[in-house]
Amino acid sequence: MADFKVAVPSVGQAGGKPSATATGKALSVVALRKTYGDVVAVDEASMEIAAGEFVTFLGSSGSGKTTTLMMIAGFCEPDSGTITVGGSDVTRLAPQKRNLGFVFQQYLLFPHMTVHENVAFPLQLRGVGKSEIRRRVGETLEIAGLSKFAGRRPRELSGGQQQRVALCRALVYRPPVILMDEPLGALDKKLRDQLQIEIKTIQQELGLTVIYVTHDQEEALVLSDRIAVMRNGLIEQFDTPRELFERPKSPFVADFLGAANFLAGRIEQHTDQHTLVRLEECGGLLTARHHDLATGVAVKVAVQPGRLSVCAPGEGFCGGTVETATYVGTIVRAGVRVEGGDAPLLRLEVPAGRGPVTGERVDVSVDPEDVNLFTVEQGG
Ligand code: ADP
Ligand code: MG
Repeated sequence: MADFKVAVPSVGQAGGKPSATATGKALSVVALRKTYGDVVAVDEASMEIAAGEFVTFLGSSGSGKTTTLMMIAGFCEPDSGTITVGGSDVTRLAPQKRNLGFVFQQYLLFPHMTVHENVAFPLQLRGVGKSEIRRRVGETLEIAGLSKFAGRRPRELSGGQQQRVALCRALVYRPPVILMDEPLGALDKKLRDQLQIEIKTIQQELGLTVIYVTHDQEEALVLSDRIAVMRNGLIEQFDTPRELFERPKSPFVADFLGAANFLAGRIEQHTDQHTLVRLEECGGLLTARHHDLATGVAVKVAVQPGRLSVCAPGEGFCGGTVETATYVGTIVRAGVRVEGGDAPLLRLEVPAGRGPVTGERVDVSVDPEDVNLFTVEQGG
């Protein structure tokens, strides 16, 4: 059973439309920094978030996600940097004056209040009239499919239902930005999948701006318009899911989002449209889309498992033996031991119908568009 709480801002505009839409910019953060002794929790984070955008901070534990969110919320004071909400500088404002909504995993709903009373609370604090409160609470509960639970107390609800109530309480006064820190972390996988879809649907229908924190790549991909991949307090890359997948700016991002295969190589030659890389381990020649790198430079080649294919001998950039082939529904996950040198293992995900079998000799190929190259300076 999970418990959730919406921290409730006590002042600010009593509902109405998000004020950010006038500028199109809901929130911006410039060079935000926070240290704890020697630990740099957040290192000069900068980003601009548009009104109506769903943005996720994605990173492993300790990467600075919560600290960044807490600074935006006003619960944690930055060492330096600025935070702007809807065009106004809120860096030194108290949390309740920022007019943001919060849904955090670790807080409780008010246990003695009914669902209706919990959701009505932020409106009461804002001095909204009784009939207007009834109307807006009713409307919000309806959106979240909670109308029939209005009279229940939190302990009479499941974890997922409590989480929905927390979401309603953050939504009810239409804050310009809603912050969520791992709100589904305590729920089981099935419920999490269901609530992800619900959160996304509500966000889109109401045009909400959401900043969401998670360490779960799949959750980030399902929910987000853009994802900030965080690492050691730094925003490693802030992009759309597609850009992060197809054009990662560092080996870290390629690995974190797609569990890329990495191969060592050297730039051999450029053609009009392509860059040819001589692979170190197997000696094969790999064709990548054009990369602006000097001939002879050492590179790390990154290819996602789903972008490699099995082909006839002689047609790929290298050959090998299928060491493992695991059927996982629509795809087969295969490990191909490349011939030569250090004999790296390439991980492939191929359609199950044409899946390779263990012990088979195969060649491996890839579309040049799907090859990313990194130099040593980029962490290669
Ligand atoms: P995440 O949410 O990504 O797991 P956090 O933002 O909670 O990461 O933490 C980032 C870093 O800052 C970690 O190294 C963490 O130990 C440190 N940190 C966070 N809060 C505090 C605190 N109150 N005191 C000391 N160190 C902290
Ligand atoms: Mg955290």
